[in-house]
Amino acid sequence: MKKLNEQDPEIFGLIEKETERQNFNIELIASENFASRAVIEAMGSCLTNKYAEGLPGKRYYGGCQYVDIIEDLARDRAKALYNADWVNVQPHSGAQANAAVYLTFMKPGDKLLGLDLSHGGHLTHGSPVNFSGITYEAHFYGVGKETGRIDMDLVRDKARKLKPRMISIGASAYTRDFNYEVFAAIADEVGAFLWMDMAHTAGLIAAKLLNDPLPYCNVVSTTTHKTLRGPRGGMLLLGRDRENTLGVVAPKSGRVKNWSELLDSAVFPGTQGGPLEHVIAAKAVAFGEALQPDFITYQKQVMENAKSMGAKFMELGYDLVSGGTDNHLVLIDLRNKGLTGKIAEEALERAEITVNKNMVPFDTQSPFVTSGIRIGTPAMTTRGLGKADFEHIVQLIDTVLQNPDSEDVQAKVAGEVRAMCERFPLYDFVTA
Ligand SMILES: *Cc1c(COP(=O)(O)O)cnc(C)c1O
Repeated sequence: MKKLNEQDPEIFGLIEKETERQNFNIELIASENFASRAVIEAMGSCLTNKYAEGLPGKRYYGGCQYVDIIEDLARDRAKALYNADWVNVQPHSGAQANAAVYLTFMKPGDKLLGLDLSHGGHLTHGSPVNFSGITYEAHFYGVGKETGRIDMDLVRDKARKLKPRMISIGASAYTRDFNYEVFAAIADEVGAFLWMDMAHTAGLIAAKLLNDPLPYCNVVSTTTHKTLRGPRGGMLLLGRDRENTLGVVAPKSGRVKNWSELLDSAVFPGTQGGPLEHVIAAKAVAFGEALQPDFITYQKQVMENAKSMGAKFMELGYDLVSGGTDNHLVLIDLRNKGLTGKIAEEALERAEITVNKNMVPFDTQSPFVTSGIRIGTPAMTTRGLGKADFEHIVQLIDTVLQNPDSEDVQAKVAGEVRAMCERFPLYDFVTA
């Protein structure tokens, strides 16, 4: 980044500082990961200059011969990764992918049944502060108080009473897998569309370590930057391009089309302008990486690390929502430790350990305070940490949380964090 340093040392300096922060923090935010240098190089390319509204072979601009090939490669690799018939790699983010889902399957005022935000759901699944909750009539299901797992009887009861137009699955803070078969049976019974948002678990699903939603859902949306470890972005997929038997029509022509056509137009021109071809190239690179056998090894390690971290926390008397984990994250209810999520997050940040405060089911605190923290293994597993390292991290976290006000303890732990990070180098190419 020599040129940037010469021309704009202020921005360069801040990127350098952020690189340093990423290199020397223990990054445990469950939605984050470290993209490879190849992914970052593709994102930093001249493809950012290109307007390419439309799809490969059907663009509204000239000069698309190379971006067409790039986008086709991204689509083909994504299809191979998920055994999908159709994908759209253009959504700028997870939220944008979800906007296209709503535009396709719902009309303003239609009813949605989704997972409660405070039980692990996402803002775009009907929260009153999000377009989804503003535009549609959102209702929620949640987890059982005792089990911490989604209560399928509650889903069925609510679905029967409400007759929602769409049921959403998917979460940002849920540690168990989903039973798509049962969801699909409920959706079929009440005549609802079924949508899975696999933003968090896309990498684990690609590695076939979690159940596959594609055979059961009308549509699947995702981000590409979480467990999937690509550039920041979104994507839409269809397991099979089901015939549109319910006769949903295209907004302008009124013609009945297949889901793939309706979703393509919901992305563009429905909710977006020109696609980010530099990010799409980076997606293609990341999907290429995900098709390699060592990606499965990585995802297995992500899960194993989360399991051993969970077991260690429980050994130290921490209360895990649902009593464990089947995926890449653990959710800790700190109430028995007399702590809030806010206090824990801030104390850990001073010790160079990054986690996020998180609502736990039936939380008694506000979203700004919360009773929990969410801890994920994808990012540090990318750096090469194994089971023993994660158990050591749990010890460090416990040391900080036992004395959340002690700056001495935080400084001492920060020293250990630095030593650990030095053993697992990350990025050197900003200054190199
Ligand atoms: C992260 C996430 C999103 C949003 O993705 P952005 O890229 O931040 O817009 C949507 N749904 C779920 C379930 C998520 O976890």
